[in-house]
Amino acid sequence: MTSENLPVVVIAGRPNVGKSTLFNRLVGRRQAIVSDMPGVTRDRKEGEALLRGRRVRLIDTAGLEEAAPDTLYGRMRASSESAVAMADLVLFCIDARSGITPADAHFASWLRRQNRPVLLIANKAEGQAGTNAALEAYSLGLGTPLALSAEHGEGIADLMGEIAERLPPAEKQRRREVSKSEGEEGNDEDERPAGPLRLAIIGRPNAGKSTLLNCLLGEERMITGPEAGLTRDSIAVDLRDEHGEIRLVDTAGMRKRARVEQNLERMSVSASIEALKMAEVVVLVIDATLGVHEQDLQIGRLIEREGRACVIALNKWDAVEDRNATKKAILDRLEISLAQVRGIPVVTFSALTGAGVHRLLPAVREVYEIWNSRVSTGELNRWFEDALERHQPPLVDGRRLKLRYMTQVKARPPTFLLFGTRAEQLPDSYKRYLVNGLRETFHMPGVPVRVQLRGTK
Ligand code: GDP
Ligand code: GDP
Repeated sequence: MTSENLPVVVIAGRPNVGKSTLFNRLVGRRQAIVSDMPGVTRDRKEGEALLRGRRVRLIDTAGLEEAAPDTLYGRMRASSESAVAMADLVLFCIDARSGITPADAHFASWLRRQNRPVLLIANKAEGQAGTNAALEAYSLGLGTPLALSAEHGEGIADLMGEIAERLPPAEKQRRREVSKSEGEEGNDEDERPAGPLRLAIIGRPNAGKSTLLNCLLGEERMITGPEAGLTRDSIAVDLRDEHGEIRLVDTAGMRKRARVEQNLERMSVSASIEALKMAEVVVLVIDATLGVHEQDLQIGRLIEREGRACVIALNKWDAVEDRNATKKAILDRLEISLAQVRGIPVVTFSALTGAGVHRLLPAVREVYEIWNSRVSTGELNRWFEDALERHQPPLVDGRRLKLRYMTQVKARPPTFLLFGTRAEQLPDSYKRYLVNGLRETFHMPGVPVRVQLRGTK
């Protein structure tokens, strides 16, 4: 990919708010290129940054200020206009120590009219500084301000995550390559993107997510423990082994969470939603020494609701005494509460010692294939007839439902459409019977299986 195709992120704001400092922070040790852009009077500072595995072209508008027209507003405008025009995202910075100035307000109102996506940043907010200004910044009408310190590196991991979420999806350009299985209907989100499998590792605080990540990465890339998130802003991402590449999404989010959770454990569930949205497969890490907690179940239900494939990881296996009993107790508990759990891949390991961790990625890949799988209409209906025979559809209002035909309308997760007279009245219990049968017969453990009902005349 040439740099021309990279998403463009522009740093804007009045002089002295810390734009250059932020630029350097995001570009890091990667080369800061100073390039000559046609159409502007001075060099514009440009560099490439790697944010959660995505390369972006970062433009710092700071250098342009002196050369532009004579008023402050004129300078800001001139320095930013052409850059903002081509931005996929604008990082609009204010100085949280000095509060909102008239120049900020002026610039913000201009920026709102440019119709570019904007992320509002309250810089110089190290420690607790700038809380007031961050709140005040809501009044700029540019959404929720993100407080950080460019100079001290606080909040940078969060920022990277926020930026990554706002970029246009990378898959869009690449996804058309995948052919659909013959004769079946499909739609866009149904197609397998060409990029690496996207994996999220989620779970309650202290389940061992960061330890697991370190283990998978084979180096201390993330810091575990209470100070997590404060110091390092590396964005771990692609794992490669002989079977290919896996992209770990939301590793910055994991750190963000680690910090929040010290105050408020419940946050882990809502934070999981973000991670889920980015992932195709989710590893739900459970601390096996503690057994299943209500929060684990909540997260499990979220995974199912969002239609993601799931692998359950029972961590801290080194510290479990009666392994058989523990595994059984945990699986029983999960089975009662999570429909998707039947036959779900369960991997036991110790993230701390590394024992058993090698089984995780193969399980992830397998469930990913299942999540993408399709059943031919012929096979499906042979099974369907059989299933109807073994267990007749129920009477509803004294009349038997006539179920006729099934077809798979999409994958990711496997979704089936069931046609029949008054099919929409099918009781949940019978639907569950069919879903369980599908899951077993066509070997789809660990993925949500959906059956939609369509009444016919
Ligand atoms: P620009 O004109 O917007 O590019 O601002 P600079 O990046 O040149 O920064 C202006 C001043 O603010 C410099 O003295 C920086 O050291 C300082 N600065 C930048 N970021 C921070 C921060 O997070 N906290 C504090 N306290 N100072 C900062
Ligand atoms: P996170 O909050 O889910 O990221 O959890 P951490 O990775 O920070 O781990 C929380 C604590 O559990 C740390 O003290 C780890 O050392 C410990 N821990 C993580 N994995 C294991 C394991 O496999 N066995 C044992 N005994 N302890 C572990």
